Amino acid sequence: MVSPVAPRVSIATDVCIGAGQCALTAPGVFTQDEDGLGAVLPGREDGGGSPLLREAARACPVSAVTVEEGGGA
Ligand code: SF4
Repeated sequence: MVSPVAPRVSIATDVCIGAGQCALTAPGVFTQDEDGLGAVLPGREDGGGSPLLREAARACPVSAVTVEEGGGA
């Protein structure tokens, strides 16, 4: 279910160092691609309602995970 106020999750792949903390912290939202870089799982760009989303963003050592709060259209 996609809430109208769902956040928007993205990863700055030019900043990501492949530490994997995002995927470890919130495996329901993040994964790692074949190069080991963090990636948002397909369809989970809204965070999937995961309570671990912000935890994962904090866990990233290079702050490559961005969570834009929803609320706008
Ligand atoms: S935690 Fe940060 S550096 Fe590590 S894979 Fe995820 S986005 Fe990349």
